[in-house]
Amino acid sequence: MLLSKEQSGIPGQINMNNYKTIIGMEVHVELKTLSKMFCGCKNDPFHAPKPNIYTCPVCLGLPGALPVANKRAIEWTVKLGLALGCKINLFSKFDRKHYFYPDLSKGYQISQYDMPFCYGGKVETSYGPVGITRVHLEEDTGKLIHQKVDGRGVSLIDFNRSSVPLVEIVTEPEIYSSAQAKEYAKKLRQIVRYLDISDCDMEKGGMRLEANISLKNDKIQMTNDKSITNNKIQKEELPNYKVELKNINSFRFLERGIEYEIERQKEILEAGKTPDQETRGYNAEKNITYIQRSKESAEDYRYFPDPDLPPIRFDDRWFAEIKSSVPELIDSVFNRWEKNYKIDRKLTELLFETSGEAKKLDKIFFCLSNQKLPIDKFVNMVVHKKIKIDLFKQNVEEIVSAYKKSVTVDDVPDEELKKFIDKVIRANPQAVKDFKAGKIQSINFLVGQVMREAKKKIEFQRLQQLIKKSIS
Ligand SMILES: [Zn+2]
Repeated sequence: MLLSKEQSGIPGQINMNNYKTIIGMEVHVELKTLSKMFCGCKNDPFHAPKPNIYTCPVCLGLPGALPVANKRAIEWTVKLGLALGCKINLFSKFDRKHYFYPDLSKGYQISQYDMPFCYGGKVETSYGPVGITRVHLEEDTGKLIHQKVDGRGVSLIDFNRSSVPLVEIVTEPEIYSSAQAKEYAKKLRQIVRYLDISDCDMEKGGMRLEANISLKNDKIQMTNDKSITNNKIQKEELPNYKVELKNINSFRFLERGIEYEIERQKEILEAGKTPDQETRGYNAEKNITYIQRSKESAEDYRYFPDPDLPPIRFDDRWFAEIKSSVPELIDSVFNRWEKNYKIDRKLTELLFETSGEAKKLDKIFFCLSNQKLPIDKFVNMVVHKKIKIDLFKQNVEEIVSAYKKSVTVDDVPDEELKKFIDKVIRANPQAVKDFKAGKIQSINFLVGQVMREAKKKIEFQRLQQLIKKSIS
């Protein structure tokens, strides 16, 4: 039963609506390395012409096959960790996580248990920072396809995705609303794409979202507990259950699924019960979450270090190399543009994805600014497709000159035009004399000269007026 705020405020009645939502997130991202995580097979499951063609004894889990770790995937994981402000374990290892499922050919997944490559980072959201617990590297599983063959329902397995490098980013339980969860996930995707290490194609499963949701009765807010005023909840104060919302493939579904869970759990708690510890999925058509499996207790994956893979040690040189590959952080880029060029982040966000593209934009903005051309207008026109410019195929000169042509007199203040007009008047005394003598057409000549000087398409009427004013 849900009470309105007014009802729950009646003295003597238990305040039932005072729940705080606590969310921790786990996000999986497939890295776009050329080859898979532990073998030389092509890493391109989304474009494979046929199932099971990018496979070998290693990623099929055949006995005796030996894995070799993909160096690039390790470097990209650390790169992401550094961009998220994480600390790095300079000595690390891979572990086997055992469980049985048909899409897991070896009977275990190679992952990282107690020594993830990265730990202790942070992502800023407009609701406050979200702590990053860890970023680790593992391998993806194959893909199960359920379909009908000869009228019989069967499950088929495609191993093209088996052992594709997969990064998992885990947050602290420091997300307090569905809106914040959505913002966090979007921001994370933006950062990953910016680093150019994954396309994060959510529809195809290149980025998969998971939220652990629970509600906490928030009477504790009445205390002067510092951890609460800091909007942080200490681990020992966490609710004694959590519901895992798994395999969400869109930001909207994430938000809706969490909203649904909050209401569902609220009802259970208000009935005096505790929601079951379980894994749930989200049904977009019905806009509900549904139980996938219940968790009686913590699963035993029998983790142990993979004996086939040597531990990883980052020496100074290798670590310095990775560090130097981290571009200027995306927040810093947006802040700089906002400060230097007064352009809104919400718009510039729409213009690019990778750091390489951001660097190109930087050059364009710099050039526009040097030529005193309005940058906010440029951004607006490009975002709203009012100008035919390909930011990343055309070179800077082409882009700037295309924009220049489209800039009309409205963008140039009178004072600036006046400079050109004065120059033209000085250089063409005869035309000025002719105009004063009543030869009206000669003003057209002067207008043309000013346009040539200004190198801009200028509104004829306004320019004519300004010239007349200067002459008389
Ligand atoms: Zn392979």
